[in-house]
Amino acid sequence: MIIILKPDLEDKEKTITQIRNYLENYPNVRIRLVELQGETREVTEVHLIGQTHNVRMDVLERFPGVERVIRVSAKYRQIGRHDIDLVPVGFTYQGITFDQDSLVIFGGLCAVETKEYVEEIFKTLKDLGISTARMGAYKPRTSPYDFQGHGKKCLPWVFELAGKYGIKVIAMEVLRDQHIEEIDKALEESGRPTGVMLQIGTRNAQNFELLKAVGSQQTYPVLYKRGMGLTLEESLNACEYIASEGNRNIVFCLRGVKTQLGLPHRNMVDFAHVPVIKRLTRLPVCVDPSHCIGSKDKSPDGLLDIFHAAAMGVIAGANMLLVEFHPEPEMAWCDGPQSLTPSQFSQFVRDVQIVRQAYKTRVETYSQALMAEMTVAA
Ligand code: PEP
Ligand code: MN
Repeated sequence: MIIILKPDLEDKEKTITQIRNYLENYPNVRIRLVELQGETREVTEVHLIGQTHNVRMDVLERFPGVERVIRVSAKYRQIGRHDIDLVPVGFTYQGITFDQDSLVIFGGLCAVETKEYVEEIFKTLKDLGISTARMGAYKPRTSPYDFQGHGKKCLPWVFELAGKYGIKVIAMEVLRDQHIEEIDKALEESGRPTGVMLQIGTRNAQNFELLKAVGSQQTYPVLYKRGMGLTLEESLNACEYIASEGNRNIVFCLRGVKTQLGLPHRNMVDFAHVPVIKRLTRLPVCVDPSHCIGSKDKSPDGLLDIFHAAAMGVIAGANMLLVEFHPEPEMAWCDGPQSLTPSQFSQFVRDVQIVRQAYKTRVETYSQALMAEMTVAA
């Protein structure tokens, strides 16, 4: 249950004490205060946690300091929509809006390899007018003998180059809490020329201690990648872990699920879940066609499967794309087979623009038809 307090209460504590006193009748209910910056004002929510089914909404609603009481499903208390329009959908970071209406493309390397490659990627992005990149300094690899990423030693020059090319945000995976500190230190020491979105990879989708670590800081937003073998509900609960620690600036990323049924693709594309996540939560939704498809195979129409998969996400209203490209994919130390060349990446961006326009036309056409129906009915 969520109790929203009235704005500008002179004595907020008085209302909170009133609520606490009333809840003495319910020993299995705890309360947690949540302060949020809403679209038009600061919002104070009192969350009731535990066995709340007997708690009477009508009693709470009568307290003078209470604006609204909402019964929410216990599952997505923080990230769920719950019909509360005071709290914003999405967030802004480094001047870029991440919400359920925007679309931002993050392109780049699977892993940071050489300075030359990183510079070429940032330059290509800049030429295309894109200021958001992906780059892994810490790589979780299936084999311990494969390249594990350069780690913290590459951060200073990656951040410096990002600043040089006007890159505002880099999506960068972290594997343990120490990596968050290393990124923060390197950014601080280099004068914060760019920003970082902390990526939780699919292999850590239920690493609850890591989820708590990214959730308990609010400097960096989080890109959460769905667990490759988890139900949607399990992955949404994992996001709830992040949010319940205090950080609600989360983007939910679909990246395909593991099954033989997806062959010959690396993973089975799960982008039909884009509208489901938008309906259930306030999170912007990202799709990653690179890790779904895993190759640069193309269909007889000439378009790469990666383009078609991305189109499925964008036509369904995705808000972010995470895609790998590399100056020399055949030389890549990680995920070369699925990495686009820079020229394929620029075709990809063009294709995304076409599909995005089609999505907007669909939404517009549907809302006009709805308006026309309502006019006839009136
Ligand atoms: C990645 O984006 O670099 C990555 C490793 O993806 P995933 O965690 O989805 O496999
Ligand atoms: Mn990769």
